[in-house]
Amino acid sequence: MSSRRVDHLLIGGGIASATCAQALREADATGSILLVARELDPPYHRPPITKGYLGGTETKDDTLIELPDDVEVLTRTSVMALDPVAKTVTLSNKETVEYGTALLATGAMVRRLQIDGVHLDGIHYLRALGNADSLIEDAETVESVVCVGGSYIGCESAATLTMLGKRVTVVLLEEEPMERAFGVQVGQWVRDVLAGHGIQVVGNVEVERFEGEGERVQRVVLAGGRALDADLVVAGVGVTPDVMLARKAGLEIGERGGVRADAQLRAHGADGLYVAGDIAEYDSPAHGGAVIRVEHEEHAVAQGRTVARNMLGAGAEHTDVPYFFSDLADWASFEYVGPALAWDDEVLEGDLAGGAFTVWYLTDGKVVAMLSAGGHGDIERGKALIASGGTLD
Ligand SMILES: Cc1cc2nc3c(=O)[nH]c(=O)nc-3n(C[C@H](O)[C@H](O)[C@H](O)COP(=O)(O)OP(=O)(O)OC[C@H]3O[C@@H](n4cnc5c(N)ncnc54)[C@H](O)[C@@H]3O)c2cc1C
Repeated sequence: MSSRRVDHLLIGGGIASATCAQALREADATGSILLVARELDPPYHRPPITKGYLGGTETKDDTLIELPDDVEVLTRTSVMALDPVAKTVTLSNKETVEYGTALLATGAMVRRLQIDGVHLDGIHYLRALGNADSLIEDAETVESVVCVGGSYIGCESAATLTMLGKRVTVVLLEEEPMERAFGVQVGQWVRDVLAGHGIQVVGNVEVERFEGEGERVQRVVLAGGRALDADLVVAGVGVTPDVMLARKAGLEIGERGGVRADAQLRAHGADGLYVAGDIAEYDSPAHGGAVIRVEHEEHAVAQGRTVARNMLGAGAEHTDVPYFFSDLADWASFEYVGPALAWDDEVLEGDLAGGAFTVWYLTDGKVVAMLSAGGHGDIERGKALIASGGTLD
């Protein structure tokens, strides 16, 4: 078993690690950087998986994230064990690597439905480019698609597949799509956008089972017995942070299932080890020190940058207000800053029906989140009000 030392070890091949590598070099860090990635592909952007890549307007090359030449990238390689005291990891290629500083950014894994019929062919989940490749190939000859789940994965996939000529139904537990994150008002708007392009939205219902003849799915059966034709299913029912390695290493796991870190994104009790992206459950200065965990690309980017600075000794807190964007084909787009888990009032500005509007989410009159659709409103103002606990007047 060979053994070596690197200055900066980046565990996980997602956007958080990739941005950290870029930011280290932008800061003129001269130390060695090793990025270890389990997937076949080097780091890439995931958002196109439900948008341009699925729709055929973006290629794999478009999704790839450019890294400085002198960053060593090991793809198809897993970190099998992490010893935060000895500051070493063991890789699946049997190498042992000692690190000066390390980033743990192992991301998230899709949650899988546990109901009858899940083994049938034609049921897809979307996390990696390879998942999209299988879906694209499988979708070529099908007519009717059911998207299970009313969050952005289900809604974006539904929009893109409709653009590809499929007849799509979205089935969700909540009354309105995206309601859980953005409220009923925005949810109704999303429903109208989808319905306006021929997508059937079936809310307030649970999927009971999948049925097929032979090996392939043919129907989605809902609680209560209603059956929807489905030649293909896309399930977008959430993710769980991938903390397998962290747990094995004895790191503290938080109530939201992520790896606990302080405001500087330092993993609790592990010298020189940072966390970022979907697994990071940290004390957020922008939320009065509340512990949050966020699953969005720009948030992972911002955290990757903060970690790079701190690997070089800045001792900086991660003060960013998390940002999220979503596109429903080229029909509608919106941005959101927050996140608000709860709020007691919403203030609408602009034209909801016309798709250019802002929704302010308030608790006790203070701004806790803001959603801007169709380029309406000022996201930077939203961020500033959230961070300062400001009011609208
Ligand atoms: C289909 C899809 C669409 C999305 N669309 C949007 C969007 O429109 N807007 C938005 O803001 N966000 C979107 N997101 C969310 C965003 O992509 C994620 O928040 C972001 O990718 C998180 O980055 P990360 O680096 O934390 O983790 P990931 O991107 O999950 O990367 C972690 C990587 O680490 C690897 N890994 C895990 N364990 C190990 C190990 N032990 N050794 C080596 N490697 C390991 C994993 O295989 C994975 O490749 C989307 C996500 C998906 C899946």
